[in-house]
Amino acid sequence: MKADKIIASEEFQKCIDFHGHLCPGLSMGYRASLAGLDWLKAQRAADEEIVAIVETDACCADAVQMITGCTFGKGNSIYKDYGKMAFTFLDRKSCRGVRFVLKSDAAPRNQRHMELIKKMQTDSASESERDEFKKLHEKRSFEILEMPIEDLFNVKELKIELPPKATIEPSKPCENCGEPTMASKLSEVNGLMVCRSCQPSF
Ligand SMILES: [Zn+2]
Ligand SMILES: [Zn+2]
Repeated sequence: MKADKIIASEEFQKCIDFHGHLCPGLSMGYRASLAGLDWLKAQRAADEEIVAIVETDACCADAVQMITGCTFGKGNSIYKDYGKMAFTFLDRKSCRGVRFVLKSDAAPRNQRHMELIKKMQTDSASESERDEFKKLHEKRSFEILEMPIEDLFNVKELKIELPPKATIEPSKPCENCGEPTMASKLSEVNGLMVCRSCQPSF
């Protein structure tokens, strides 16, 4: 499908609304998520039926939450700080899983784009460089949206144990600060059951 059609779609617009802008990372997360749901033959998770594991906290993670319905708050969006463009999707019902990893040659680094990203990050880009950055960033997003999925990711079926479902447990007051805290997150320090934020001061 053509990128402008994808971008105009309700699904993609929701991603942009949630994330705040169109970017290559968002586009990548969008592609991986749709491919993941498709591979699992699953629908967006209303509850916890799908689990997503994202190995980077970059832009792509927002599209994964939006498209798969795996969210931080439901506990079925899991972040591993591995610094990889890798996305795993698990289906609790079928017990199947799949991992998509960005191919090393799928995102060749454009020198000028990298230079401009650095300038944007350090707030040292001129007006015309800002425009140039926006254009390159958009062009890259379009490429990612239109690229054949097999050129974008390596795909591997997984045998993986599903993480436990989110638990709901009653709170108990921390015996130092008094704030209600999930009981399993309290630990004993000097005979008192204290919360994690109080621990460094003990
Ligand atoms: Zn972004
Ligand atoms: Zn406390």
